[in-house]
Amino acid sequence: MTGLRSLSVLGATGSVGASTLDLVRREPEAWRLVALTAHSNATELARLALEFSAEIAVVADEARLPELREALAGTGIATAGGPAALVEAAARGADVTVAAIVGCAGLAPTMAAIEQGGVIALANKEALVSAGEVMTAAVARHGATLLPVDSEHNAIFQCLQGNNTAHVRWITLTASGGPFRDWSWEQLSAATPAQAIKHPNWDMGAKISVDSATMFNKGLELIEAHHLFPVGLDRLRIIVHPQSIVHSMVEYRDGSTLAQLGPSDMRVPIASALAYPERMDTPCAPLDLAAIGELTFRTPDEDRFPATRLAREAAQAGGAIPAVLNAANEVAVAAFLAGQISFTRIAAQVEDVLNAYMPVAPACLSDVLAVDGEARERARQLMEAA
Ligand code: NAD
Ligand code: MG
Repeated sequence: MTGLRSLSVLGATGSVGASTLDLVRREPEAWRLVALTAHSNATELARLALEFSAEIAVVADEARLPELREALAGTGIATAGGPAALVEAAARGADVTVAAIVGCAGLAPTMAAIEQGGVIALANKEALVSAGEVMTAAVARHGATLLPVDSEHNAIFQCLQGNNTAHVRWITLTASGGPFRDWSWEQLSAATPAQAIKHPNWDMGAKISVDSATMFNKGLELIEAHHLFPVGLDRLRIIVHPQSIVHSMVEYRDGSTLAQLGPSDMRVPIASALAYPERMDTPCAPLDLAAIGELTFRTPDEDRFPATRLAREAAQAGGAIPAVLNAANEVAVAAFLAGQISFTRIAAQVEDVLNAYMPVAPACLSDVLAVDGEARERARQLMEAA
């Protein structure tokens, strides 16, 4: 790549954040770091801010600000704390902002970055699922460029290059099926958090690992794809592909199917977004198909994994419903990780919240945040009543 570009990483201490900074570390001459943010790990955030000479380090949990301040005192790196500071840091603008916060907590800062009109490399799928048209309209209004980092969407984006979406017959999202893809309903009912966060192919944060086990990850990705590639919901489908080598596919009207393949390493899609429209080196192992031997595919089982059905219905309903689905899932995943509900209750509880009420479609960011807040409250009430 040529020229120095500025970069902010929202969620710098997470799995996607770490993979991003690993690539940046290999090309220090190419990047100038603006904002690095974290939820609460002030020590790690300070270490990264120093290593990359960031302009500002922001910790969302304000209680950790004194620790961050002390760690960066005398370095010339600005520090700040709290959700509003996160939004201000994102609003400093950068040529590229990697949105890698987990959950709807990343929505407001991502929207602030969009308003600056740069490239948004989006990992934070929950933000797009919740905000939907509110986010895509902001992208258009501010002339921002939304590049998908989620491996499936990055694959689809690549398979669409140079083609007219009017000729798309199918977009097929691949799903690993998660660690429980072959488990019976009885086994699923007794699945523990430790088993759920041990993904067979990918090394990811706890929330997305649970989403992967329930298939809510693919459900959220279906809604994400619906906004990123508006070919119509009936042209989007999901196929289980346990090896996670084919990251997704696009079939055209003439019968040609284009697929993107690669190792199960997030540095590949992240690099594709960072360098777009160029390409950059990554340290990822080259694809050795002879060693992999077999690539297999099967139809998802929505009886054992109802999440993709719930997500498709939410996408069809549109308006506020995807935000309700996302919020209810975030609450259920946190409750499962805390040992409060069983694995199979996650989808059941999301469905209960979806059936409980019908909020009006959000028109702006604060509407989306209000829908998110109310859905969380209702999810908690349902849990207490159970
Ligand atoms: P993670 O849990 O490893 O990291 C999350 C980051 O967000 C951390 O830096 C954390 O400090 C920050 N954060 C968490 N809660 C916050 C809050 N309330 N306010 C501000 N910051 C907060 O998660 P991850 O696996 O890196 O995933 C990040 C996003 O990328 C998720 O939306 C996930 O679905 C998506 N994604 C991840 C992967 C992957 O391989 N990890 C792949 C595709 C998409
Ligand atoms: Mg994905």
